[in-house]
Amino acid sequence: MDAIKQIVAKAGIVDLTYLDSPQGEMYLKIVVASLAVGAALALYLGTASASAPKKILATPELTLSTTEPHAMLPTITDWHRMKLVDKTALSHNTNLYVFEIPRPTGHIKGVHPDPVLGLPIGQHISVSAEIDGKNIVRSYTPTTLDGEDPGRFHLLVKAYEKGNISRYLSLLTVGQEVKVKGPKGKFKYTSDLADHFLMIAGGTGITPMYQIIKASLADESDDTQLRLIYANVNEDDILLRKELDDLQARSNGRFQVYYVLNNAPSNWTGGQGFITRASIEQHMPVGGVDARGKVLMCGPPPMMNAMKGHLEGIGYPKPNTISRLEDQVFLF
Ligand SMILES: Cc1cc2nc3c(=O)[nH]c(=O)nc-3n(C[C@H](O)[C@H](O)[C@H](O)COP(=O)(O)OP(=O)(O)OC[C@H]3O[C@@H](n4cnc5c(N)ncnc54)[C@H](O)[C@@H]3O)c2cc1C
Repeated sequence: MDAIKQIVAKAGIVDLTYLDSPQGEMYLKIVVASLAVGAALALYLGTASASAPKKILATPELTLSTTEPHAMLPTITDWHRMKLVDKTALSHNTNLYVFEIPRPTGHIKGVHPDPVLGLPIGQHISVSAEIDGKNIVRSYTPTTLDGEDPGRFHLLVKAYEKGNISRYLSLLTVGQEVKVKGPKGKFKYTSDLADHFLMIAGGTGITPMYQIIKASLADESDDTQLRLIYANVNEDDILLRKELDDLQARSNGRFQVYYVLNNAPSNWTGGQGFITRASIEQHMPVGGVDARGKVLMCGPPPMMNAMKGHLEGIGYPKPNTISRLEDQVFLF
């Protein structure tokens, strides 16, 4: 208070004798209170302007902040060109493709995070190409979550000899671009969607499950129980096996995977042949067919048809032709 008294007196606003009087004391209290309010206001305005999203001048519809990355696929209406930056063979017919998400153009001052696809967990993208004069479009689920590989996303795609887009992708070389659009899909994972999930996947049908499992386990507040039955022809065909095993080991029992092989080697401890009703019953989550549990399925149509039959036998409802988020049995 003394320091403020000296400053006020020095400024020549009032003299020291007045400040020592009862009226002067009241005057000083008002000065101190005004200074406090002013400082608080300055602090608030400073913080607010520092956290406000920064507009990019060249593309006014785009807002970027230093904390929120730009989502590349905000709508399903636009096609975006994405450059292939890496391609690795994971098995004799499946490649991992890494695509670069283009940075938005404009004046971006300072550091800003790389863009992300902005896909809700469990949704997919469309990839399009002109093949023999026809525009072909197919769906693919990225195996990376937003920001996991900054500025890039990964696709895991099995190539079919007579396939259109899968073959087109397998012939792509690093540096070439593909047309991508999204988000697409009715499913959107959130930690409160169900208490437990039974996931049944075949071959590349693992991709949506992998995305959901990763997102769920990365969230420490999520206690959803996850059980995966994953079918393949041969042991070499099992995709993301190390990643799935690592996730299981680090999940504190929240996630369990059971592999099933059509052609199992002699020392195989998982399932053999096709997925049976008995193996589903053995590996489904505790709680079974209760209302707080959901089933997610993705795989070749003949396998999916067989699974629908098994699930109905266990007591699950018949899935809708086009699945909706609220369905108990959801087919991707
Ligand atoms: C929501 C969703 C997500 C998907 N995510 C992925 C993913 O992450 N990775 C991935 O690899 N695939 C994924 N798929 C499958 C993908 O969309 C294509 O169906 C697949 O790549 C084949 O497309 P294509 O254009 O190469 O073949 P198409 O032109 O559709 O088929 C041409 C020929 O290829 C062969 N063929 C195609 N599909 C099969 C099959 N399943 N089994 C046997 N032969 C076949 C047949 O000979 C067929 O006649 C997903 C599908 C959906 C619906």
